[in-house]
Amino acid sequence: MRFDGFAGNNDVKQQLSAAIDSGRFPHALLIEGPPGSGKKTLARLLVKAAVCTGAGEKPCGVCAACRKVDSGHPDVTWLCGDGTQKSLNVAAVRALREDAAVLPNEAARKVIILADADPMNPQAQNALLKILEEPPAYMLFILTVESRAKMLPTVQSRCITVSLHGVTDEEALPVLRPQFPTLSEQDLLDRIRLFSGCIGAVLQSAEDEQFSKAIDLIDTIARAIIAPQEVTLLTAFAPLERDKPLTDTVLAGLKFVLRDALAISIGDPDLTISVSPEAARMLAASLPKRALRDAIAVIDDLQTSRKRNMNQTLLLTVACARLREAAGR
Ligand SMILES: [Zn+2]
Repeated sequence: MRFDGFAGNNDVKQQLSAAIDSGRFPHALLIEGPPGSGKKTLARLLVKAAVCTGAGEKPCGVCAACRKVDSGHPDVTWLCGDGTQKSLNVAAVRALREDAAVLPNEAARKVIILADADPMNPQAQNALLKILEEPPAYMLFILTVESRAKMLPTVQSRCITVSLHGVTDEEALPVLRPQFPTLSEQDLLDRIRLFSGCIGAVLQSAEDEQFSKAIDLIDTIARAIIAPQEVTLLTAFAPLERDKPLTDTVLAGLKFVLRDALAISIGDPDLTISVSPEAARMLAASLPKRALRDAIAVIDDLQTSRKRNMNQTLLLTVACARLREAAGR
């Protein structure tokens, strides 16, 4: 299989190529990985590989079927969660089940992608399980989630799981260099490390002049989570109230620092540390794993609520209180 435009993750590429090149395309794939690690990019390549009609290694990227995946292929359905349980609920999954029972229009396979499927509730996952247990021979399901732990064990057991991770500096630089032509090498490396090598997260990060401010803020907020007084955290959050792009970068970066802290706590051997290693080590030393997981969930919720245009000041105040509670302060 070809992975044009998908950097790094060589272990995943080998795992998928071994299966797909020998004609063993799975019926269900679960792609897990941190934000911006390329879950949807990989899903799109797999969809193309499944419907491609070109000769040679797949996907060719140029046949009519490959091109239709980008513009709208009749046998490919994308369903993207919006961070709430409502978006991929039981009714949505039941509708998929009916769709899956209809033969593909033109391709040999029919593909359904459930992107950002993390918040699916157990009822919706059980409805999905009914199709995963006996899928029609032509079906391919692709689910993308930040963590497989969000899916029921019964769903996980029906899927081949691949785990994406950040890429190395050497793998990220050629992809990102053209996107940030004015940044110095060191500034670009700082940015790659802040997001633990997750290229999509780097691409979404704030404007250049904001970036050093964002790094400082991430460090300040991370430390303030465990400060003795709540006012320290409220003050640290204050610069975010009127600056949406800065807030997006800070929240994304803060999540990477919390994930680093959790990885340090569990002794993860694949640890790629972000740009605030000291803050991550301090959080790991000060908080139990459960508190770190809760704090990550608070940032998740805050990111979701922000997409729905809720009152920014109120959201940040509530998030401060919840972070303090998670940290047992
Ligand atoms: Zn093709």
